Amino acid sequence: MTKFPYEDRFNINRSLPENGRDPQEVLEELQLIAKEEDAFWETGKCSGTMYCGDHEHYNFLNQAFGLFAHVNALQRDMCPSVTKFESEIISMTLDIFNAGEVEDAKPVGLVTSGGTGSIMHAMLSYRELYAKERGIKHPKVIKPETAHPAFDKACHLFGIEVVLAPVDPVTMQVDINFVENSIDENTVAIIGSACNYGYGTIDPIEELSDLAVRKGVGLHVDCCLGGFILPFLSKLGRDIPIFDFRLKGVTTISADTHKYGYAFKGTSVVMFRDKSLRNSQYFYLTDWSGGKYCSPGMDGSRSAGLIAATWASMVKTGMSGYLKYSKEIIEAAGEMIEHVRSHKELKILGNPTFLFSFTSDEFDIYHINDFMRLRGWRFNGQQYPNALHMAVTRPQTQKGVVETFKKDLDEAIEYAKEQTSEPASGAIYGGVQGGLTSEVDGFIKMLMGQMMDEFQEIPE
Ligand SMILES: *Cc1c(COP(=O)(O)O)cnc(C)c1O
Repeated sequence: MTKFPYEDRFNINRSLPENGRDPQEVLEELQLIAKEEDAFWETGKCSGTMYCGDHEHYNFLNQAFGLFAHVNALQRDMCPSVTKFESEIISMTLDIFNAGEVEDAKPVGLVTSGGTGSIMHAMLSYRELYAKERGIKHPKVIKPETAHPAFDKACHLFGIEVVLAPVDPVTMQVDINFVENSIDENTVAIIGSACNYGYGTIDPIEELSDLAVRKGVGLHVDCCLGGFILPFLSKLGRDIPIFDFRLKGVTTISADTHKYGYAFKGTSVVMFRDKSLRNSQYFYLTDWSGGKYCSPGMDGSRSAGLIAATWASMVKTGMSGYLKYSKEIIEAAGEMIEHVRSHKELKILGNPTFLFSFTSDEFDIYHINDFMRLRGWRFNGQQYPNALHMAVTRPQTQKGVVETFKKDLDEAIEYAKEQTSEPASGAIYGGVQGGLTSEVDGFIKMLMGQMMDEFQEIPE
């Protein structure tokens, strides 16, 4: 197990310091750690996660955050501005997804704590609405195998059955016939991704939409990752299929402001084609001795700071900014994809846009990963089949990064061809930290232990 890198250098607090520490000293400690950790991705060699990477933008967001960080978004009598910020975030996002063209319903949204939060709210609202309207007691959703684990997590928490639909091994799009044949009287929703996390491929949303209309079930389109880039790529004239509210069957969409929206981690938008769906999961407790209680989503108190900072990110970036960054990203991604394709040993999976995934029929692709890691690259590792993915973000659009990728990849292929033993790295969501693929189940449990328990012992 890797040692926590700060153990030897900093005091580990297992109980409160006897006397409060000097704030300057505390800040200096944090600055040192943050600077070291930022150096990891500032090179531009890290897939996804740092969607913006612009410290000037972060400083601007910090100022917006700081003005409202201490405010509780639940107490709107004290902060009516939060209603303005939140409504505008939702309206601007609904507009990106062409909700203005919906005539048969009233599109609305919720700002949640992240992509998982958005997906959870959508799943909960399908369960609640269809329990009420159709008396469904054992709700079921059908999810492409490639759709995000947040769906499985939501269904696990809310007692919804998940049916996994296979994807075509060439296009990496969901098998629409399987989805159709799996729909029964308990099905509340089907799911498609635009795009999925693993391969960056877009499911056939138009066909899923037709199916949803025909069968009378909901359709959630997961745009957590693609939500603040694919619509702009469409506007730039790229060949992106329609996946938004213009399709009649699309009933909910999730789009993460904390990814390509360039806001801070901790916000996302979930949109509903109709108000009745969103309102079905509202929570009221009117006879509590502590007073009448209501909350629009699963959270209780929330920081108004994140909402203000998200609003600030969107209005500062504007249409011009999102178009500019989307163009830079897709150009960098295009060059990288083309280079991968130029090597006959490598194979791009499906038809990707800004996020691409590649494997090899000649060697274990994790040999490429082992080599690239030594050059400072951090790809996301996948399994079944073993593959590596790169979500191209703004840090890769810095000068020289694409060139370095090409050069390092060329050398990595030579290295991979010479290897006779097993590679050292394996597939872990959100990063590859080592461990053989075959040992991953044990390894991932060890990682969870390291993340959660290492420093949580109670002093004797
Ligand atoms: C990031 C992501 C999510 C949600 O993840 P969070 O970590 O909760 O923001 C859902 N779907 C896709 C495709 C994603 O990339």
